Amino acid sequence: LHAIMSLVMGSIFPIDDIDNVEECLQPFRLSLEKLQDVSSRLRKDLIRGLGKHTHCRAPVKMLPTFVRATPDGREKGDFLALDLGGTNFRVLHVRVVEEMQKLLKMDSKICAIPQEIMLGTGEQLFDHIAACLAEFLESLELKDQTLPLGFTFSFPCEQKDIDKSLLIHWTKGFNCSGVVGEDVVRLLREAIHRRGDYDIGSVAMVNDTVGTMMSCGYRDQSCEIGMIIGTGTNACYMEEIKNVKRVEGEDGRMCINTEWGGFGDDGSLKDIQTEFDLVVDRDSLNPGVHVFEKMISGMYLGEIARLVLVKLARDKLLFGGDLSVALLTQDSFETRFISEIEEGLQKAQEILSKLDLPAGPVDCQIVRLVCDSLSTRSAQLCATALATIANRIRVNRGLDHLSTTVGVDGTVYKKHPNFSEKLQETVRILAPKCDITFLVSDDGSGKGAAMVTAVAQRLAMQSRI
Ligand code: BGC
Ligand code: MG
Repeated sequence: LHAIMSLVMGSIFPIDDIDNVEECLQPFRLSLEKLQDVSSRLRKDLIRGLGKHTHCRAPVKMLPTFVRATPDGREKGDFLALDLGGTNFRVLHVRVVEEMQKLLKMDSKICAIPQEIMLGTGEQLFDHIAACLAEFLESLELKDQTLPLGFTFSFPCEQKDIDKSLLIHWTKGFNCSGVVGEDVVRLLREAIHRRGDYDIGSVAMVNDTVGTMMSCGYRDQSCEIGMIIGTGTNACYMEEIKNVKRVEGEDGRMCINTEWGGFGDDGSLKDIQTEFDLVVDRDSLNPGVHVFEKMISGMYLGEIARLVLVKLARDKLLFGGDLSVALLTQDSFETRFISEIEEGLQKAQEILSKLDLPAGPVDCQIVRLVCDSLSTRSAQLCATALATIANRIRVNRGLDHLSTTVGVDGTVYKKHPNFSEKLQETVRILAPKCDITFLVSDDGSGKGAAMVTAVAQRLAMQSRI
């Protein structure tokens, strides 16, 4: 790297400075041995999360989802879907067509959730959701129908059943009072009944990872893992029920929402957390919660980058030692800037000048190097976690070799120029006995939620017969 940097920057950049920049970025560079070590820690944590007595103190929650089957092509009907917890809040009307094996989005609407509501009371939040849904139904003249609803709620929940789901804690940008420990389905129904102008049918609660897996499952029956790398990060996969000690039953499988974002919440990742990760955690809405997620996902990557840039500028290694008010403002360096800067240096100049930073060509190169080291670490850590899960599925089934498909979604994975390549490369190294196909989901947290609802309905119908 040293050689490349010297070549790229030629004589305009003193060698000592390259060394100093590299020294600052060193803590983000993880060796293969380190990644293997992290994988074996996670392997043990997956088991702790599944165990009856170890679960309550396990940082990786391994939550039962009550999804026992992936789609088999017999699902059909009209559904509503809500998607809360990603980049936008959305309401959708989705049709599952049996003959065509298709999920059709009939209509959808994005509703903004103002920050006051994200940080307000639960009642305000659910009233807002019920109001958005009312407007949507009104505009489609669907208010007099009672459609089943898939609710993608992308936060860790203790599910008691497909339609009963208690929030464990908020993550990402949400922190509404009075919701932790409550049944989210009840809160939604109560808000709708408070209005009294429409009603909904049966509800299926869906984590976005599960929706993602299920929406790909429709196209590829071997899709048994769902992964999100967006505002937050997480994955789910099909586990043998006999290993899920907190759920009765010996036969068959159940989808487990791993909540891998919580990996490290017991301090197990201290050795790889950098000084910047510690600051991001400390200044977040939920210090100490979702340590792994904070090293990886879109809600935090930009902020880590900003802190590194501030440090480099203070050390006079960037912008001639100048700092701008913008750069000193929390969250001013958006995660999408990382993707854009890695896309091309032209963009770097533009972004930095919008942040009032006097950036020359060398500055742009350095900023790009910072972005690259953060996105690379993020991709490698995700790959490590994914490889751990794939290996677990392989061993579960007593296979020498596993062929499987992962449904993926999320802005970081989809928008970054080479995140997916870096991730796949690392997975191949860490899970050499697994042959993994990556399928970008087509709106898993919207359409996928309808699919989960449709499968639940099919199973309920079958058990009645
Ligand atoms: C949540 C998960 C979710 C993930 C991706 C995390 O913060 O805890 O439930 O799947 O974000 O949206
Ligand atoms: Mg989403």
